[in-house]
Amino acid sequence: MTQRSITVIPGDGIGPSIVEAAIRILDAAGCNFHYDYADAGLMALEKHGELLPQRTLDLIANNKIALKGPLTTPIAGGFTSINVSLRKHFNLYANLRPVVSFEGTKSRFDNVDIITIRENTEGMYSGAGQTRASDNNSAEAMSIVTREGAERITEFAYQLAVKEGRKKVTIVHKANILKSTSGLFLEVAREVALRYPQIETNEMIVDAVCMNLVMYPERFDIIVTTNLFGDIISDLCAGLIGGLGMAPGANIGKEVAIFEAVHGSAPDIAGQNIANPCSVILAAIQMLEHLSQQDKGMQDKAELIRSAMRKTIKDGTTVTRDLGGNASTTEFTQAIIANL
Ligand code: NAD
Repeated sequence: MTQRSITVIPGDGIGPSIVEAAIRILDAAGCNFHYDYADAGLMALEKHGELLPQRTLDLIANNKIALKGPLTTPIAGGFTSINVSLRKHFNLYANLRPVVSFEGTKSRFDNVDIITIRENTEGMYSGAGQTRASDNNSAEAMSIVTREGAERITEFAYQLAVKEGRKKVTIVHKANILKSTSGLFLEVAREVALRYPQIETNEMIVDAVCMNLVMYPERFDIIVTTNLFGDIISDLCAGLIGGLGMAPGANIGKEVAIFEAVHGSAPDIAGQNIANPCSVILAAIQMLEHLSQQDKGMQDKAELIRSAMRKTIKDGTTVTRDLGGNASTTEFTQAIIANL
């Protein structure tokens, strides 16, 4: 079989070190990928004078699969998020964020298994109508929901439920207040749900979801929702399993898919070799599962890496600080490789 090429974007802050850890593990598991390295974000700005170089876009378009480290985005002012730009450019409409408990992590629950499916291109993230009045006393932003966008994301959620043998989809909205946008989303989601009578459907308002998630996470299976709610809920879910260090995310479109850690570039610990690489390793596992649609062997590699991670975390002697240990990123990675 020809060697598959993957576009790798190391990213900013802790990105390069955790992405390198994931690549070492993919190689040690015998995945035999060719990697095309590309820059984006602050790293790209420093090296090439632009945040998202054309070469990076071309490499992602050609290879169709990318593994990406976190990118720094300025808060409030400054440039638009490169993550959001990438999602829009490649129309990566589905953001798939699974959280699964790992034995040995410090968390309030030990049996969490929830997938949040977040609409990735519309809602409050459409970027439309962001204005600040000249007197700086008021500001506006526009939220956009389309029938097409709501339908394809809820279809995606139900199809995933069928494919993975999941039992329930919870449609999360705020249609009691946001009657136009959330109202349309809920209406379309209900129509889609009717096509899947074998899957239990549950509707819940976003604030109630937050309370129920922290009290009864076992009541949730797949969650589908709009962009901003999905962003917040998926971080909440990451907290249920011990924090952002264990949560991956896949951005999936019709042609291209980009896999990444859910957390950011962690500038406070960058360059110290102490970051937990698990989130991006789990993103690499998601990538293998995605590739297994064409190459069945990739599923075995995904299982191999996941069980080595489980073993290393359960053992607990060589894990990073956030997981209760004192190992460096490099030592933790080496321990996972030894357990493959
Ligand atoms: P963050 O996720 O980078 O960090 C939050 C806290 O979690 C920090 O204390 C950090 O040290 C810790 N942390 C994060 N990842 C860790 C890991 N792997 N191991 C150990 N500890 C870890 O969030 P932030 O500080 O709000 O954001 C920093 C930058 O990242 C911002 O510019 C933000 O816009 C960007 N960001 C990027 C992405 C992305 O590229 N997908 C996602 C979120 C935030």
